[in-house]
Amino acid sequence: MNKYINQLLQMQDLEIALREHRSLKGAAEEETCAELRKNIGGLKKILPPEVSVIYERISKKYDIFVCPMVNSACTSCFMKIPVGVTNSVMSTSNCISCPTCGRFLYYDEGHFARPSDEFHQYKGVARFSSQELMLPHMKAKSKGDVIETIGQQCAKAGFVLDGGLFVKALLSRESLITTAVGSGMAFPHARDIRACGLTLAVGTVKPGIKENGDSLSIFFVSAVPMQTSIFYIELISKLANYFSKSENRKKMLDCTQPEQMWKILVQIGK
Ligand SMILES: [Zn+2]
Repeated sequence: MNKYINQLLQMQDLEIALREHRSLKGAAEEETCAELRKNIGGLKKILPPEVSVIYERISKKYDIFVCPMVNSACTSCFMKIPVGVTNSVMSTSNCISCPTCGRFLYYDEGHFARPSDEFHQYKGVARFSSQELMLPHMKAKSKGDVIETIGQQCAKAGFVLDGGLFVKALLSRESLITTAVGSGMAFPHARDIRACGLTLAVGTVKPGIKENGDSLSIFFVSAVPMQTSIFYIELISKLANYFSKSENRKKMLDCTQPEQMWKILVQIGK
């Protein structure tokens, strides 16, 4: 992949992380936000001027300013891309923008494992999760164990293509900044991995796993394709809000069977 596209993807990821952080935490997290802003600024400085000009314009207009081209179409505005432009995107020598919406494009034909028509036949939380992705009372000793087990289960259930790569991406995101949000909850997630769409798995651990003075007991693990990033932020805000109440956390932690956890999730999704 073009090295500047890679850099733009990192910037997009950090800007979304900044938004996520703001949606979940209060002013106490100013230090983390400042660090994220510093990293974005550092990457911005090393963009070539011709890319920088487009970035400044397009990133003000859209939250997602870099997206994959699939079947010769832009995955953000869904418009067909002319053959000449398609070839340029595939040759990866320059940063190419979508002729319709202006977003930067990159080539990834294997981006979707499952056709999107299939995705749309489900409703509510079943669009991005299933009972198979509910893991009550996991036997895990560390956050890494939890991520490994849940990540592999997502692949086994057919939601992500490669469990190993998914786990690696989750751990790498986690090493950047913890996704714990207080009250024993964490939201490990990985963007831009090969998944059939947004994927959410939930695992509980009793007793919780110690981290920075908190005891992590409910893990919401997600694969977040770029085009679902904003929906993902809305989803985690909803979950964090619901489970900020200790009686709701207790209900989830008391579940011993996947179907009990699934019932709670379906209820929240309504
Ligand atoms: Zn477009």
